[in-house]
Amino acid sequence: SWYSPEPRAPFRRSHDIPEGTCRPCSDTSGQRSCRVLTFYGKLYIIDLNTNEEKILMKTKKGKTIALIAHDNKKQEIIEWCLANKKILEHHFLCGTGTTARMIADKTGLPIRGYNSGPLGGDQQIGAMLANGELGLIIFLRDPLTAQPHEPDVSALLRLCDVQKIPLATNASSAKIMLESLKNGVFSK
Ligand code: PGA
Repeated sequence: SWYSPEPRAPFRRSHDIPEGTCRPCSDTSGQRSCRVLTFYGKLYIIDLNTNEEKILMKTKKGKTIALIAHDNKKQEIIEWCLANKKILEHHFLCGTGTTARMIADKTGLPIRGYNSGPLGGDQQIGAMLANGELGLIIFLRDPLTAQPHEPDVSALLRLCDVQKIPLATNASSAKIMLESLKNGVFSK
């Protein structure tokens, strides 16, 4: 599901994107046959007969950044997002369920939310990593509390190393990473 400050309710399919962002197109009989829309920097085309959707192209430059924080670190990631809002606005954000919802609510940044971490969210982010869809990850971990989904967390960290994706696991490294992003150090 997606979370964004406006509208607040999560939605699952691009068809639920507010009408204002999309443009209908017609076939020769004048029937609306597909809908073209841009959202989060991607241009989508949706076939209204089959409900199939295709991403045609990216319309905005930016990296996809995954944001995850364990419960004791949620406040820290929100403060970090607020401090770096101007930079983050130029990128595509996603995150595990609770983290994403809190970031959307408290900062107003658009962010795609997956399942909550213990319910498979880390694995969903891991799948994005494996597909080469992620540019970098900020994962503020709580090193002092046992997590029920520790195997999922380890798997995600391992995949970062497999794919050589920059990963920050505390606020200091996240700060340095964002500085590098701002200065265009990341080329991928
Ligand atoms: P959450 O998951 O954002 O749903 O709290 C984070 C995690 O524990 O991995």
